[in-house]
Amino acid sequence: MDITIHRGSREVGGNCVEVRTGETRLILDLGMPLFGDDRQPLETFSLRRRSTTELQELGILPQVSGLFGEGTPPAAILLSHAHLDHTGLLNHSADSIPVYASPGTSKMMLAGSLFAAQVGLPQERYREVKPEEPIAVGNFTITGYPVDHSIYGCLAFLIEAEGKRLLYSGDLRSHGRKPGMERRLIEVCQQQPIDALLMEGTHFGFADGNPANEYELEREIVKFVGQSDSLVLASFSPQHVDRLVAFIRAAKQTGRIFVADVYTAFILHLLQSEINLPQPEAQGFVRVYVPKNLKESGHRPGRTKQIERFRDSEIMIDEIKADPEKFLMVFRASMLEDFDGELPQRTSCLYSRWHGYLEQPDWSITRQKIGDVNGELHEVHTSGHILSADIVRFVHAIDPQTIIPIHTFEPERFEEFFDNVIRIEDGVEHTIG
Ligand SMILES: [Zn+2]
Repeated sequence: MDITIHRGSREVGGNCVEVRTGETRLILDLGMPLFGDDRQPLETFSLRRRSTTELQELGILPQVSGLFGEGTPPAAILLSHAHLDHTGLLNHSADSIPVYASPGTSKMMLAGSLFAAQVGLPQERYREVKPEEPIAVGNFTITGYPVDHSIYGCLAFLIEAEGKRLLYSGDLRSHGRKPGMERRLIEVCQQQPIDALLMEGTHFGFADGNPANEYELEREIVKFVGQSDSLVLASFSPQHVDRLVAFIRAAKQTGRIFVADVYTAFILHLLQSEINLPQPEAQGFVRVYVPKNLKESGHRPGRTKQIERFRDSEIMIDEIKADPEKFLMVFRASMLEDFDGELPQRTSCLYSRWHGYLEQPDWSITRQKIGDVNGELHEVHTSGHILSADIVRFVHAIDPQTIIPIHTFEPERFEEFFDNVIRIEDGVEHTIG
C-alpha cells in the first residue's frame, strides 16, 4: 500500500491524501488550504468563488491524476468530516468520482451549503458510510469509526489492503462529550496492529488554549446565563452539535426560551432521527428567528423551503426586545442590524468560536455595541482538536508500527515523543510496511 500526502504534511488544513494499491486509488479528504506559506490565514472566502482553472493556476488544487479532470479518476473520495479544510475543493473534482462520508457529514454539508455558503455534497455522488460497517472499493476495505471533533458526523478511517492496515485519524479530540468513541477506536486498534497511523497534530504547533472539556464548558455557560438579567446572545457554529447541545441545556436549566436562527433550526430538524434534540414549536421551548439578511437575500428554493418549515414557531425581534431576559438567542455579527442598532440594556454575548474572528471588523462593532448597553462579551471556548498531551497518550495507546504526521505546522514535534515517526513531505510517495 502506497501513500502520498498531496497537502497537509506541514500545515493545518487543505488535507488531501492519496492511497494506492494495485490499480485502485483512494483520496482521503479534499480540503481548502486555510493558511499560506507564511502561516497567515488565506482569504478562503474569495478562494471559494474561484474557478477550477484559476485555482489550478494559483497552485491551490493538488496535482492528482484524474481528480479534477484529465486522466483516469481515482476510485473514491472519502470525507472524514464536513469542515472546509477537508471538503472545500470537492466542487472542483470530477463528477464521476463517488464520495464516501457519514450521514452526519452529508447533513452538515447540506445545511452548510444552504445557509453558510459552504460546499455541498451532490446526492448522486454520495455513498453512505455506516459506523463500523466495512465497505469494499477495489482492493481496499474501508471502515469508518466515529470520532469526536467540533462538527457533527466525524469519522476516522481504517483502510486495509494487501495485509496492511492504515488508520487515518481525520480531526479528533479527547475532551469532547463522547469519550467512548476514542475508547472504542483504541480497542479496535489493539485487537489487530496498525501498520501506519496518519495522525493529526494541530496542537503540535498551535497552543492548546483553554483545556476545559465540553462538560466544564457547559457549566460555565449555565453559570453565565444564570447571572444575566437581560438578553444573552450565543455565537457558535450550529454544526458543532455538542456545543449546540450545551447552549440548549443552558437555556433549559435557566428557564429561558432557546431562540434558534433558521440555520440552527434546520440542523435540529435534520438530526432529529439520529439524536434526541428539542424541535421548534409554536410557543414552545425552541423558537425560530429568521435573520433580516436571509429574508432580504432573495429567493433560493432550498432555503425558502426551510424558512417556510419553521413558520409556526417563528419569533419576531419585537417579542425578544419586549422581554429580553426570557431568551437565549443564537447570534452572528451580521444580525446586529436586526436590532436597529440598539441592543436591549445589559445584553451580553457568549462568544464560542475561534478567538481570531473577534479581531475582524464586524465583531469589533458588535463588541462596541454590547459595551454601549453595559453588557459583557464573554469568551467560552475549547479546541476541537486533540490537545498535545492527549496526542501522546492516544498514539501510545494505538501503538502503531509507524506514525505519519498530518494537519500540523510542526511535524518534527512528533519525533520528540515517538521513535517510529515517518515524515513525508507533500507530494512524496511512501510505501507502508
Ligand atoms: Zn481540519
